[in-house]
Amino acid sequence: VIESDDWGSIRMSSRRAFDRLANHGVDLHTGDSLRYNLYDTLASREDMEALFNVLRGIRDRNGQNPVFTALCLVANPDFEKIQEAGFGEYYYESLVRTHERYYPNQNVFQLWKQGMERNLFKPQFHGREHLNVQAWMRALNRGDRDTRLAFEEGIWGFNNKHVSGLSFQAAFDLEHLSDLTAHMGILKDGLRLFEELFGYKASFFVPPNGILHESLYPGLSELGINYLYSSKLHPVPVEPGQFTTRLNYLGKKTKVGQRFITRNAFFEPSTGLPGCVVKCLNEIETAFRFRRPAIISSHRVNYIGVLDESNRARGLDQLKELLESVVRRWPEVEFMSTSELGNLMESE
Ligand SMILES: [Zn+2]
Repeated sequence: VIESDDWGSIRMSSRRAFDRLANHGVDLHTGDSLRYNLYDTLASREDMEALFNVLRGIRDRNGQNPVFTALCLVANPDFEKIQEAGFGEYYYESLVRTHERYYPNQNVFQLWKQGMERNLFKPQFHGREHLNVQAWMRALNRGDRDTRLAFEEGIWGFNNKHVSGLSFQAAFDLEHLSDLTAHMGILKDGLRLFEELFGYKASFFVPPNGILHESLYPGLSELGINYLYSSKLHPVPVEPGQFTTRLNYLGKKTKVGQRFITRNAFFEPSTGLPGCVVKCLNEIETAFRFRRPAIISSHRVNYIGVLDESNRARGLDQLKELLESVVRRWPEVEFMSTSELGNLMESE
């Protein structure tokens, strides 16, 4: 199983935006954020075609190609409308509209649908936006310098913790406990939009930055979310700025019966670190040795060439090498999406 986060979301709007923000001293590099700010943006037609070409070239023993379970954000802020409203009101646009704005006449969403039909690309839910709407709007409203500068470039993904104590990318982290009501509303609205766009209900949810208050689990279950992402030692927010750690393993159930899906392999060639393929193959080998499925985490950033073509070339070359090695080393391997794995777990 290959899980790839962040599809549909704006990260860096352009190379010029990166340079302008860097010149203003806006933090774009702390932690693991530099590669996202340098390379990660909405996938163009060329990006999607290049990815699908790699996936189409590889088959398991059933003739199935590797499939990306694409964790999608279905919306982005409508910057124009928010500005017109003097930062007093929040508006969003669907991912289809954002793609049309970024890449007019490329019909990128059409290509997503083709990828879905060919079982190469299976959207699941990563949130309505990859954005903490409440915290961001408060910062915009009080005129925070960096937040406004980034807004002018059509982004929010800089390192903003000094602004609000939490990452704007963490859509469901809590600046105030009272934000929980708004969070449930956003999840409900986002899942509605997901179904409208893709024609089926999402069953798997990966919260942005992994952060989600447990009181939202029952509401998500009612909305059809049967599978929830978790790390093995998972930080769960209790109150603003306060986390507790839960031990969650693959298949463990929440109180309302959802199952946790944990990842046990990681493939991030955009870090530029050597040995990405070998490291991931070792993780897959360990998974199989313990008779577990290999669930690989690999973010969108690795496959995007719009801001830097060499990033996409590196990511796809290594993806091809990884997948070719997998079918050679384990001829009995079967590729599947997260929801297929979940259904298989339910049936046993
Ligand atoms: Zn994400």
